Amino acid sequence: MHKTVGNFGAGTAYGGRVAAGDTGQAAGQVAGHGDNTMALRVEALESLLVEKGYVDPAALDTIITTYERDVGPRNGAHVVALSWVDPEYRQRLLTDATAAIAELGYGGRQGEHMVALENTPDEHHLVVCTLCSCYPWPVLGLPPTWYKSAPYRSRAVLDPRGVLADFGVTLPEGTRITVHDSTAEVRYLVVPMRPPGTDGWDVEALAALVTRDSMIGTGVLAAP
Ligand code: FE
Repeated sequence: MHKTVGNFGAGTAYGGRVAAGDTGQAAGQVAGHGDNTMALRVEALESLLVEKGYVDPAALDTIITTYERDVGPRNGAHVVALSWVDPEYRQRLLTDATAAIAELGYGGRQGEHMVALENTPDEHHLVVCTLCSCYPWPVLGLPPTWYKSAPYRSRAVLDPRGVLADFGVTLPEGTRITVHDSTAEVRYLVVPMRPPGTDGWDVEALAALVTRDSMIGTGVLAAP
């Protein structure tokens, strides 16, 4: 079990390889944790629904492609970057995230009730769905495989500092870690701290610095 926990962090700790390394590695190592069974169940369920005429497979493919290719974490990065340069937007985001995110044209499925969590030197937020894989699709796209893994889901609550260490993140001892459990009702977007050395940068340049993991809370942003 400990080995597995180490693995899910390793896939993510290597920055640029996140997407490929993550999926490949996690897919291989979750075999004993029921996720492959889950994939088979989903496939069986989908076949059944298609066969009964409840869903159109082309429509399903369109949805998945949209979230995989077009949405992704860049939307969230835009939200975060704007909140760094525009204090009024930041205030709106922290007050009513759903509305503030909708201002930028992002919203819909799995993002109806968004809450933005502001990371500060005193408090670091970490998001998990202990039950399954609830995730804010409109701002982050589809969840990474490790987010759905049993080790992450259980250990994020029991040992958040250990989980962060697996992701290569060490916070100062004085920083409190608050873990938020996503549900079907509420989805969270972590607003990471703006990296030092970025004074005067525009929203687009800042957004390029924002990683998916920093908006889940498993990553922090280093100075560019
Ligand atoms: Fe869930």
